[in-house]
This record gives sequence, structure tokens and C-alpha cells, in this order.
Amino acid sequence: MKFLSTRNPNVQITASEAIIKGLAPDGGLYIPEEFKKIRWDDLATDDPVTFAHKLLESYFEDDFLKESLLAHCKKAFSFPLPVNELSNGQKVLELFHGPTCAFKDVGARFLSSAISKLPNANNKPRLVLVATSGDTGGAVAAAFNDYPDIRVAILYPKGKVSKRQEQQLTCWNKHILAFSVEGTFDDCQRLVKEAFLNDHWNSHWELISANSISVARLLPQMVYYALTSLNYYKKNEIFAEFIIPTGNLGNAVAAFWAKKMGMPIDKIGLALNANDSIINYTRSGVWKPQPSKVTLANAMDVGSPSNIERLFNLYPDRIDLNKISEAVSATDEDIKNTIQKVYKELNYIICPHTATAFYAQSKLKWDDPILVSTAHPAKFEKIVEPLIKKPVTIPPALQNILSLPSRKIEIEASLDRLNENLI
Ligand SMILES: *Cc1c(COP(=O)(O)O)cnc(C)c1O
Repeated sequence: MKFLSTRNPNVQITASEAIIKGLAPDGGLYIPEEFKKIRWDDLATDDPVTFAHKLLESYFEDDFLKESLLAHCKKAFSFPLPVNELSNGQKVLELFHGPTCAFKDVGARFLSSAISKLPNANNKPRLVLVATSGDTGGAVAAAFNDYPDIRVAILYPKGKVSKRQEQQLTCWNKHILAFSVEGTFDDCQRLVKEAFLNDHWNSHWELISANSISVARLLPQMVYYALTSLNYYKKNEIFAEFIIPTGNLGNAVAAFWAKKMGMPIDKIGLALNANDSIINYTRSGVWKPQPSKVTLANAMDVGSPSNIERLFNLYPDRIDLNKISEAVSATDEDIKNTIQKVYKELNYIICPHTATAFYAQSKLKWDDPILVSTAHPAKFEKIVEPLIKKPVTIPPALQNILSLPSRKIEIEASLDRLNENLI
């Protein structure tokens, strides 16, 4: 299977190349040239790893990673992804049972496993560079912890991540370096971009991006939508609907891709926080990215979602998108009220991101949607605990991370300072 750029279908490379390169040279995002339909019977299995392997095989045909694909699926699907049914019948797809308690563990683990197998053509040391405002960095750090030959540098804004988030960035093996940068998340992102464009950096390192545009993160995310929708169909004989907390659109695009593969998925709801550029687009057809706004659901604070080009690629006409998708935006007030309401009425504790999905359903009133829960509430205890007036039980994975010693390097927001600390 070839991968094409969203901006130019003549740019064609293999899956492995798309994983190493990240962004296409023309600035577009890589997409598979086709979404091959698979007969549902051919996917029948109770084992998520085998299921993932069957679902993803066509994307790695003729690719170097075909041989090792099963191993990557094993790494990515090493924890449960259950659908929890609440006391009112509401279904919740819980994607937070991985090592860092967020859905990003799935994609990050597939990515690290794939990269560890890819031959290093030019003998330069590999460096994974990530800017993070919270969850991405933790998932990537944890995923690469077992691969000492791959250096990882995580940049996060000093004083702007929570204590527990910082611990998830700073507690790993020596090859994972956490940089506490004087500045904002945008400064961190700027440094990463500068490094990728810098000749000196590129002559010294093989730089690898681990952000949510990576196809190695998106492809495995299709698996939980495909598997959940098939199980739902088997039981109910109707197509499943998902409502997905959305920021950079990485998680949601995977659901749209799974639908495109012919999985029994009907509508896909996009639950947004106050960063609602997508809603304006669905109404007006004009795409106008906005500056990011800070909200309680901070992993979704994205005013200009990078994966939007992939959505436009799937649905060039917004009328077609609107037929199968709706977006709802929640204010911080809505998020707080929803956390309280869901706890009080259903005795279920949710994180601020997951709250946007519950809020969206209260507006959309779909018949029987599956709400996607993207993180464990214990990661956001400073927000959740005062609202429900009780401590959130810490899951064992997080408990383990919190007990590890941590290390960080404080630097000014400059590429030279970063460079000095990497050599
Ligand atoms: C990253 C993240 C999101 C947003 O996912 P996107 O793929 O960026 O749309 C939502 N919730 C949590 C907890 C996250 O970490």
C-alpha cells in the first residue's frame, strides 16, 4: 500500500517511510491510498491483537514492517479497551487502561515498536522530539522506555503542567530526557519545528516526530473503533455511533477511517471544548483556525487541529460530512456541571475531556451512542476532586509512575540550550 500526501496524490511513499518522515515534503499529511474493505467474518476473533493484525495488514503490504506487524499490535494492544455500561444503559468505551492512563498509549506504543524495528539507513542516532502540554509526552515517553537506542526529548512548558503530568514526563530511563522549558507550549512547539528545519540538527540526528499526525499513531487507533462497532453490531444488529472528545482530531480521524473501511459505524460526534473552529466550519464551509484557548480539558486546547486536512480529504464537501457527523462545544462551566451530574446520577467519575462527550450527548440525544473516554480522572484530580468532593482512586499504572524517581532539565526556550544538553 502506498501513502499519499493530502496536498498532492503524486507524492507516494511506503508506510515505513511515512512513519519515519512524519510530514510530507509539501507540508501535507500522509494518508493511505485506499481503505480496503474487509469482510466482517474474516475479522472474527476474540483476541484484540489478532484482530488488529488482520485489520491493519493491508496498510503494510509490501512494507518492511509487514513481518513484524504482529509484534507492534502486541505492544499496542497489551491492555483492555472495555465498553462499560453505566446504570442508565449509557455505553462508555474506556481507552484509559494503558500505562499512562490515556488513549494516546495505543498509538504511542505502536509507533515506538515500529520505529525500533526500522533499519537506520544513515547511521545517525535517532532522536524522537516531542512538544507536549500534557498527555502526549507521557504516552510517548512510556512507550519508548524499553528502547534505549532511541533517544527521546520531551519539551514541556515549565510550571504549566500538573504535578502528576510532570511526573509522567520525568520518571523514565536515562535515554528519555524531559526538558522543562521557560515559556509556553507554543515556545516548545516552535523549538521542535526549528530543530526539524535545522541543517545542523539534521546532519547529526535522524529526527523523528511523535505527534498526532503520525500515521503510526492513527492506524492502530482504528482498531478499537472497528472492534467495538463489530461487537455492537453482533449484539444489536444496528451500526454503532461514537461521540469522541476531540482536539487535534487524531482520535476522531481514526474513527472516520474505520468507517471508510466499511466497519458498522453510523454517525460520529465530535465533542469539543471552547476551541470550536470545527463548528464554524460545519456551519459556514469556511475553515478559519483560531488561536488556542485554555480550558479545563487541556489536552483538547487546539484552535488549529493539524488533522483537519485528513478530514477534508475524506469529505471534500462539508454537506457530506454533516450527514454523518455533528460537533458540539462545551464551556468550562458545562464540563464542571457534567462531571458533577454524571457522578451524582450514575456514580461514575469522568475526566474533563470525557465530560465533553457526555455533554455533547445531552445536546445531541442520539439513541444509543458509545461515548469515548480518553483519560482516567485520576490524572486530573485537581479539577475532578473538588467537584465530586471525594478523592479519585489512583489506578495501579499511575500509582507505579508516581512512585518512581524523576529527573528533568530546566532550559531557556532556545535551540542552542537544547542542543548543549543532548550531546
Ligand atoms: C489528546 C487528548 C484528546 C484529544 O485527542 P485528539 O486526537 O488530539 O483529538 C482528548 N482527550 C485526552 C485525554 C487527550 O489526551
